[in-house]
Amino acid sequence: MSVLGDVLQVARTDVLEHGAGLDEASILACLRVADDQLPALLALAHDVRRRWGGDAVEVEGIVSVKTGGCPEDCHFCSQSGKFESPVRAARLDVDSLVRAARETRATGATEFCIVAAVRGPDQKLLDDVASAIEAIRADGNDVQVPCSLGILTAAQVDRLVAMGVHRYNHNLETARSHFSSVVTTHSWDERWETLQLVRDAGMEVCCGGILGMGETLEQRAEFAAQLAPDEVPLNFLDPRPGTPFAPLPTMLAGDALRAIAAFRLALPRTILRFAGGRELTLGDLGTRDGLLGGINAVIVGNYLTTLGRSPAEDLALLDELRMPIKALNASL
Ligand code: SF4
Repeated sequence: MSVLGDVLQVARTDVLEHGAGLDEASILACLRVADDQLPALLALAHDVRRRWGGDAVEVEGIVSVKTGGCPEDCHFCSQSGKFESPVRAARLDVDSLVRAARETRATGATEFCIVAAVRGPDQKLLDDVASAIEAIRADGNDVQVPCSLGILTAAQVDRLVAMGVHRYNHNLETARSHFSSVVTTHSWDERWETLQLVRDAGMEVCCGGILGMGETLEQRAEFAAQLAPDEVPLNFLDPRPGTPFAPLPTMLAGDALRAIAAFRLALPRTILRFAGGRELTLGDLGTRDGLLGGINAVIVGNYLTTLGRSPAEDLALLDELRMPIKALNASL
């Protein structure tokens, strides 16, 4: 039997029937499948997603409350103040956030994630986020508001819980063994500690990363095996001008699809979200293949520093694929 045959058999029993994720060696085997075996892998990942996550797709909008000028040096990020990049520093006021939340909810999205380009939040940023959440509620908007504000202390986690933030995004970005090639101003372990605090406080953990940052397939498998959150946003590197990763090639579409299927088989119950870079790496056809290969959540509209497809295009595709948008308060 081929290596894929072995892995598919294991995945059918362990993942599809029993809901247990693949181990690192099996994830690596998925990442290595030949092109002619890819459709079978994607089909199984889709079955797993439907069996353990259902048909619904969670739709989210994101907004940047503070853009650019970040003191960290994540080599993929055009918001780092350490690189010459066209992204200018900017801050959104509460009224703008309320408007953006209203527009997001009007698309059918149930999540409106407030993001800031910082190492971690200061008092003013947390005060601004608290005011924004209050104003969004006062506007009669029932959208859920996760946050992504960098590295947190325990007291800051408690404050976010008190604001009603139900989910916190903090990406590990890449495998632990590759992290120092991507970021030098903080460590993978510092990120991990914030995730631990968030989990201990009872918030949902959203933690993913970016593929195509020079990691080996072994490190890609390591990364998938290291993640255990409620949600994984999967980004594909969109090499931004001015950043150290600007010269890197974009990931091949086939490799991106192998990764989607492999992450789904590693994390059968997780919300696996298409995030940045999918338009560049996968195009329209690949977006469809991904949704039929394990993805069950999307970010609609624009990303933090790059443009996405129009929400209408994504929503029409979900409709065509007969995938309902997940309703508010549906259980994970
Ligand atoms: S990824 Fe986040 S922490 Fe890193 S440079 Fe960009 S904004 Fe700063």
